[in-house]
Amino acid sequence: MGRVGHGVALLSGGLDSALAVKLCLEQGLRITAVRFMTHFGCDAGGGGSCGHDVTGLARELGIPIKLCPLGEEYIERVRNPKFGRGANMNICIDCRVMMLAWAGEYRLAVGADFVLTGEVLNQRPMSQTRERFGLIDRECGLEGRVLRPLSARLLAPTIPEIEGLVDRSRLLGLHGRSRKPQLELAARWGITDYGQPAGGCLLTDPGYSHRLRELWDHDPAAGASDIMLLQVGRHFRLGPSVKAIVGRDEGENVTIEAYAEPGDALLGLADYVGPTTLVRGPCTEPELARAAALTVRYGDAPEGAEVTVTLRLRGAPARTLRSRSIDPAEADRMRVAR
Ligand code: SF4
Repeated sequence: MGRVGHGVALLSGGLDSALAVKLCLEQGLRITAVRFMTHFGCDAGGGGSCGHDVTGLARELGIPIKLCPLGEEYIERVRNPKFGRGANMNICIDCRVMMLAWAGEYRLAVGADFVLTGEVLNQRPMSQTRERFGLIDRECGLEGRVLRPLSARLLAPTIPEIEGLVDRSRLLGLHGRSRKPQLELAARWGITDYGQPAGGCLLTDPGYSHRLRELWDHDPAAGASDIMLLQVGRHFRLGPSVKAIVGRDEGENVTIEAYAEPGDALLGLADYVGPTTLVRGPCTEPELARAAALTVRYGDAPEGAEVTVTLRLRGAPARTLRSRSIDPAEADRMRVAR
């Protein structure tokens, strides 16, 4: 009996990568999965398929999985992409290059023969064309080693196919945006634990992209801690270096508290249910007063009433401010939203 081929699979949590793995398993290949996490929604809990928790899926498929956080290095790539952006802040080509390069190194570490992805030819215009596949594979140093089982029959044979480790005749020739063949395969193989396709990570979302651009326009060096905050609350620009983030519900209030850092101010209503507001940046008293008025606006205090707002600043004694709700037009002017 010949040697069993071993592939490192990029398992995103979406259906396509699950099917790519399943196709390989069906022909007896050994698969080890890697799952990348970024600060832009590709983590368990983020929206869309790349935020889907893949541990259940890996269990369903019976394969081991390695979680791989892409931290500041990935943020730096989003700030300065080599291959440009898509319609929003998404850097799909750079993103694929980074992930595949990492998977390529992991392939060597575990002694695997190839890397595989769930990409489908011509499904996405930015990163999934024949030309882009070639560019990405060259750029990450994996030419001939990236197997795309769902479209393999339409692509040039890869090294593991040429070497006879992978049976090309048992791979597919899918292309384009239709999801029908994938859904039929999922039903046939009983694959249920996958995320719904939602067009990619947060970087493809126009509203999120606007917030990120606005942040870097004001603070080009802003890193993970400011970026994590972009996912929660309503955002207001109080001054060139000062922002207020106002929680929209109890869950966001808890998250905002958890993200607070030394130097941040936390505001809340003393006598009514209301949001937690985080103020970040070296703020003046008038800016703090505006943050207090925003806190009143989104709380349950009676309209027009002057109420007490608590203010906590790490390292300084807690104090209170008296404030009415901000004028809605002024709030709209400060709002970072599209
Ligand atoms: S949508 Fe693009 S940038 Fe976002 S995770 Fe997918 S490939 Fe990467």
